[in-house]
Amino acid sequence: MYALEIDGLKKTYKSGVQALKGINLTVEQGDFFALLGPNGAGKSTTIGVISSLVNKSEGKVLVSGHSIDDDLIAAKSCIGLVPQEFNFNQFETLQQIVVNQAGYYGVPRHIAKERAEKYLKQLELWDKRNSPARSLSGGMKRRLMIARALMHEPKILILDEPTAGVDIEIRRSMWTFLKKINEQGITIILTTHYLEEAEMLCRNIAIIDKGTIVENTSMKALLSKL
Ligand code: ADP
Ligand code: ADP
Repeated sequence: MYALEIDGLKKTYKSGVQALKGINLTVEQGDFFALLGPNGAGKSTTIGVISSLVNKSEGKVLVSGHSIDDDLIAAKSCIGLVPQEFNFNQFETLQQIVVNQAGYYGVPRHIAKERAEKYLKQLELWDKRNSPARSLSGGMKRRLMIARALMHEPKILILDEPTAGVDIEIRRSMWTFLKKINEQGITIILTTHYLEEAEMLCRNIAIIDKGTIVENTSMKALLSKL
């Protein structure tokens, strides 16, 4: 079984923009996978469909074998999503944000508290646990969104441009953390427009341009061609 299987996926927005023109993609379980492409290529749309924030127009999407059409709740529970924009309540504390997130997935409160400590520590945010999210730097806010996405212990972590606007030092520590949790078994899919980032982290890669997958290969094979 694949972590992710996409077959003939199309998305046309109401505006008439054809964001995805029939993409096919598979991601192996345990993979570290990059979806690389320029702005406007369709990366966020793809992620939006996988995590059921965007309605697809056509095609099939299976998340850990669960169809998003027939088995949406199971599919959603397999995914932890780190969106591009900060979408938490800026006035809540870090602890509240992550514990409440676990609550949405039915995680009992005492377990949620243990996980909050574990992930806030791993992401070097524990000292800030009682601070309101608005007091964090941009890099810290990105890490908070990663901690939040892990609270229901998903099989797949999906990150949309996770290091956009993050300085190089924080970027490196985020990379180290993502590698570590990938080694522990979680499948990671990220979008990026930096080849360097994909090169640093990923085993397999798909390149998307104008709503079409133009390359889908191992990172090694891609680099040997460049
Ligand atoms: P759907 O087809 O999934 O229902 P819509 O076409 O209704 O999506 O668009 C969702 C929202 O995104 C709308 O409010 C729309 O104004 C907004 N939107 C339109 N164009 C863009 C764009 N290029 N990038 C981001 N958001 C956009
Ligand atoms: P990327 O993440 O690679 O930058 P997107 O998936 O955001 O690409 O966008 C793909 C195309 O779809 C672009 O032309 C973008 O303007 C358009 N688009 C994205 N979101 C919307 C929306 N909500 N409504 C209409 N058009 C959109």
